[in-house]
Amino acid sequence: MYSIVIHGGAGNITPAIMNAEQEALHLAGLTAARDSGFEVLKQGGTAMQAVEAAIVSLEDNPLFNAGRGAVFTKKGLHEMDAALMNGSTLDAGAVAGVRNVRNPIRLAREVMLKSGHVFLSGSGAHEFALMQGLDLVHDDYFFNQDRYDQWVAIRDSDFYQLDHKGDNLKGSIPSTDHKFGTVGAVACDTRGNLAAGTSTGGMTNKRFGRIGDSPVIGAGTYANNKTCAISCTGHGEFFLRGVVAYDVSCLMEYAGLSLQEACERVVNGKLKAMGGEGGLIAVNARADDYFCFNSAGMYRAMRNSEGKESVACYG
Ligand code: ASP
Repeated sequence: MYSIVIHGGAGNITPAIMNAEQEALHLAGLTAARDSGFEVLKQGGTAMQAVEAAIVSLEDNPLFNAGRGAVFTKKGLHEMDAALMNGSTLDAGAVAGVRNVRNPIRLAREVMLKSGHVFLSGSGAHEFALMQGLDLVHDDYFFNQDRYDQWVAIRDSDFYQLDHKGDNLKGSIPSTDHKFGTVGAVACDTRGNLAAGTSTGGMTNKRFGRIGDSPVIGAGTYANNKTCAISCTGHGEFFLRGVVAYDVSCLMEYAGLSLQEACERVVNGKLKAMGGEGGLIAVNARADDYFCFNSAGMYRAMRNSEGKESVACYG
């Protein structure tokens, strides 16, 4: 059995913030990304390849806060984070604060395979992307009127904003944004190997080189064949402090919890108690899937070789 599970961000996602057309577009984007990953698995490809294919599809879709749809920073730029982890070898690659890279998840893969390191950032990561011949694009590629308006509304303030929340952190400027963010995928392939990946533009109006949980191995992204593959989305500062993805894996490895029990314990127990909003997607080496979130909704989809499939937005 094999399966793929994806997300496009968790947060205040309710019917009240989306019209039928927006909802249909998101569901179509999620379905296309899920199916591109599923096709890889069906052809006998690896979990790593499937996760990358699904995330590239979401990065190329301006609806999601990753790659092309990345939000604006305080300086009006797009600084992206991504990570990829192989559950069979525990190899991992990650990048933070990269600009002009069309598909940060591909750069994370190259870091894993060719840099001799795990985590590269900023100008050094950019230099490495150039060396590896990755697709680079102009700032205009990332322009999106909705996200621009969202940024303009708060750029002169100290507020920063989670792409998937209807309100602002450290303040109460009402958000008009209806687009939600960060993308991720986890997969179990025909050999029972697991992989996890996450890609994001982070938070609107972020500054000082802020990095969230998404590219941090163990916080936003983690995979281990012994336990599970996890990709998180939500208020990154809490996921970092809760070491969320690794915590789920640890509960399975050391305390013997099931995939579902471990996810619930972390997301609806520990994380919620800390005040952290968001969720995660998970798969184990038997290809069981699980979605878990403590927010109103999460953009999500899954499909497995037994014919089970779903795509949804709301709680
Ligand atoms: N976790 C991401 C971050 O804090 C944001 C998100 O999931 O939407 O950068």
